[in-house]
Amino acid sequence: MSAAPPVISIRGLSHSYGEGEQRRQILRAVDLTVAPGEVVVIGGPSGSGKTTLLTLCGALRSVQEGEVSVAGRGLNGLSADQQRELRGSIGFVFQSHNLIDALTAGQNVVMSLLGRFPPAQAESMAEAALESLGLLSRVDAFPEELSGGERQRVAVARALVRSPELILADEPTASLDNASAAAVIESIKEAARRTSCAVLLVTHDPRVLPIADRSLQLDGGKLFEHAGRINLRSVG
Ligand code: ADP
Ligand code: MG
Repeated sequence: MSAAPPVISIRGLSHSYGEGEQRRQILRAVDLTVAPGEVVVIGGPSGSGKTTLLTLCGALRSVQEGEVSVAGRGLNGLSADQQRELRGSIGFVFQSHNLIDALTAGQNVVMSLLGRFPPAQAESMAEAALESLGLLSRVDAFPEELSGGERQRVAVARALVRSPELILADEPTASLDNASAAAVIESIKEAARRTSCAVLLVTHDPRVLPIADRSLQLDGGKLFEHAGRINLRSVG
């Protein structure tokens, strides 16, 4: 394990939805550390809290109980503005690619750089990101002209183009055939290797497991090692 400070550090994270009798605890004292360049895959049945955990890490949801820090910044008690700012340093890849239909692949990636870089520079950064995912020839294609796998790779390019310290991916291969799923997960793995960004990927798709440096399972609100069902706290 690298000596560099972790990109994600979670201690005792619990989360519930609902009030009173409706209250349901989804996460129970979860601990997790993810190092720079590490690809961690978290599986678990539908409804086990994978998306909840990911959205907490991504400052898309406020921490109720426990400590979470991402890229050296504590997430507890952040204002909405501070959460938004933190999200700017994270690359998100969701189950559905969320590309804007009216924009080309290149323009979709450029969108992620708006206001941060001059337009000409943003365009060349977007082209470089698409090229690194083998999509340079598709830069002027609109989402409807792309295959499902190509669309999802454009979404990965959009997440990567800002050189985030962390990529958070939620079921990125869910609706893809085997070849497309392989291309998407290979592109995520390659990005982690090339840029040393950390990746936390939640999925119930076993096709993703080969890229994991570490694979964990969320079940009953707790995180287990994938095979052994050992609480992470007992293995450090
Ligand atoms: P997964 O991603 O593993 O399928 P989720 O984190 O989406 O699981 O959801 C975990 C549980 O919490 C599910 O039972 C879901 O219905 C519930 N849940 C998720 N989001 C909310 C919400 N905003 N309000 C109430 N319940 C929710
Ligand atoms: Mg989910």
